[in-house]
Amino acid sequence: MTTVTHGLVLREAKYREADKILTVLTPDLGKLTVTARASRRKGGGISAAAQLLVWSELTLSEYRGRWTLTDAATELEFRSLRRDLERLSLGSYFAELTDVMVPEGQSAPELLSLLLNALYALDRLDRPLTLVKAAFELRLLCLSGYAPGLDACAVCGREPEEPVLHLREGQLLCRSCQSAPGPVQSLNSAALAAMRYITSCESKKLFSFRLDGESLRLLSRAAERYLLTQLERGFRTLDFYDSISGPVLPENGKKRGF
Ligand SMILES: [Zn+2]
Repeated sequence: MTTVTHGLVLREAKYREADKILTVLTPDLGKLTVTARASRRKGGGISAAAQLLVWSELTLSEYRGRWTLTDAATELEFRSLRRDLERLSLGSYFAELTDVMVPEGQSAPELLSLLLNALYALDRLDRPLTLVKAAFELRLLCLSGYAPGLDACAVCGREPEEPVLHLREGQLLCRSCQSAPGPVQSLNSAALAAMRYITSCESKKLFSFRLDGESLRLLSRAAERYLLTQLERGFRTLDFYDSISGPVLPENGKKRGF
C-alpha cells in the first residue's frame, strides 16, 4: 500500500550502511517508524527529508506493518534554527518531548501543530528562548493531560498574594496555605499571569506574551521543574541544551534541585 502524507522527523538513527530509521509525526497516520533507504547518500529528496526537524511531503509504502519512505519533497527546513546550535538543541528537545508524549501509531494533531509553531518561533521570531521553552513545556503538558490548576489557591480559594506551584499536585497555593509536603516553585503575579495565559490562550498566540527579568526566570523555572516532576524522567536533549546555553537559572547554584 502506498500513501502520500506530510510528516515532521522527530528522531533519526543510522541503520546499516546508508539507511536511516526515522520517527515521523504525521497529521493523519500519527507517529510512525519509517525506514529511509540510502538516505545517508548525498542528494535526492529522501536524503533532504530524512533529517531531524524537517517537514516534508512523504510517499510511504507499507508492507506487513513496516513503513518505507519511497519519495519525499521537503517543505520546511527551519534553516535559521539549524544555523544556531542553541536554537537547534532547543528544537531537538521539543522533538524528544513530543516523541515521548505520543505513542506509536497514535494521532496527535494538536501536539504536531504546537511543535511546528514552536519551531517556527525559534526559526523566525525574535522571542527570548527561555520564553519559547517555558511556553512549549507548559502547553505540551496541558495538551497531554497534565494541566496545572491555576484558577485560585487550592486550599483557601483566594487569589494568592505569594503564589507557589505545588509541582507534584499541580496546584496553585498561597505560601501560607501550603501544608502538603513536596517540592514547590515560587511564582510572582506576572509569572502566574503568564502561566494562565499559556494554559488558555489561542494556539497561534502562544508565544506573543511579554515577560522578562525575575518574572521570566520564575516562569522558566516553574515550567521546567513542573515538567520534570510530572514526567518523572530527564531528557538527553535538555542536558545538551543546558550544556551549551549555560546556566540560565543560576539561583542557589543548582539549576534543578528538587
Ligand atoms: Zn490560600
